[in-house]
Amino acid sequence: MRTQQLVALFFFSVALGACEHELDDGADHFEPVDDYANLEEQGVYDCTERADSGYRQGARFAISVVRVDAKPVEVDTANAYIALQDAARRDGVNLRVVSGFRTNDEQDYLYGCYVDCNCNSCNLAAAPGYSNHQSGHALDLNTAESGVLTWLNRNGGRFGFSRTVPSETWHWEWWGAAGDFEGPCGHVPAPTNVAPTDCAALPAAGGIIDDGDNCFTPGGPSQYLRSVGDAGHDGDLIWTGVTASPAPDNFGVWWIKVQQPGPYRLEAYINRDYASSRQAKYSIRHNGRTDLITLDLTAAGNFRSLGVFDFAVGEGQQVRLDDNTGEHGSLGRQVTFDGLRVTPVATPPPAPPPTCTQVRVQTDGAPLNVRPSASTQQAPRGTIANGAVVGRLSTAVGQEVRGNQSWHEVQQGALRGYISAAFASCVN
Ligand SMILES: [Zn+2]
Repeated sequence: MRTQQLVALFFFSVALGACEHELDDGADHFEPVDDYANLEEQGVYDCTERADSGYRQGARFAISVVRVDAKPVEVDTANAYIALQDAARRDGVNLRVVSGFRTNDEQDYLYGCYVDCNCNSCNLAAAPGYSNHQSGHALDLNTAESGVLTWLNRNGGRFGFSRTVPSETWHWEWWGAAGDFEGPCGHVPAPTNVAPTDCAALPAAGGIIDDGDNCFTPGGPSQYLRSVGDAGHDGDLIWTGVTASPAPDNFGVWWIKVQQPGPYRLEAYINRDYASSRQAKYSIRHNGRTDLITLDLTAAGNFRSLGVFDFAVGEGQQVRLDDNTGEHGSLGRQVTFDGLRVTPVATPPPAPPPTCTQVRVQTDGAPLNVRPSASTQQAPRGTIANGAVVGRLSTAVGQEVRGNQSWHEVQQGALRGYISAAFASCVN
């Protein structure tokens, strides 16, 4: 023990004297011990961000850290590493982080081990604030495993990774730009309420918004959005695998801007060679409300109707399709992002003349629901019996029922609301 300490003291003084720059050159100097403790978590990532302090050349800055392979990794470095790891896996090589982001406390500990020579095998360690691992850019990888270093030497550069300390084969640093690799962590763009500036409003005759158009925006990690160039509407489509996750990874948004307000029929173009979800969920935000329409993509037909929806002039209206349909990934099902046809529906017949102050309810016998608005989406306020004559207050355009978009606002005693004109006729 005494001998060891003496050796350490000697070593320490040599290190300080002859090569003191070694303590702040950022290098590892010793390969970290790979205890294989994260072998089962290889390839697993958790994008929950944690704020921490990064250091470079002793200067402190704010950093955001996630976990990859059960190791802390700076979020932008993590996105690049996940893409790197993905590519390696396809080549049959399993990359694993042995050491990632290091906090100042952790570096302080390693430095103390070196100074006091009582832990970490007395290995030389960079001074706190000076380790490359505190910058968030450095990862020590499992290059001791067969094939890993060869693969990294060939491919690391494609993903912005390089060996910054020539003698340290395990030590790789990523110095790319934050936007180079989109997701899965940190970069899933939050859905905004505004369409891209180059998305032009559809003319009164409507039109088709295709996946290659300015009014379509794909979302989520781009490596999971597969483009196909010889299929789908207009000869292209995008597909992605579906999941049962609580939150979406990938999604697509068709922005609906119209020059002419009114009801439009929406139809999604489906190519069943690529679309196989039985429960694709289209969220339709239109004229101040949102409807969720579920579509079985395996059913027949190319242009499949999502229904008729009222669109206003202005921003924020969209059709959005997420990849988390609730179908487990192991089923291998897919959703597609392709053409969306937007067709104006003929203007409804003019409202009955003002002389019509009363309407008669005509159903096949059942009482008729009275709704709070011109739609069946909200729970009825009450019912009116078949054959009853009630006062008509106004007529509105709303949800299409049996081909009729007119709704009468009626009153019977204290009950006031809307009934579909498909089940009522003027009495006077
Ligand atoms: Zn390192």
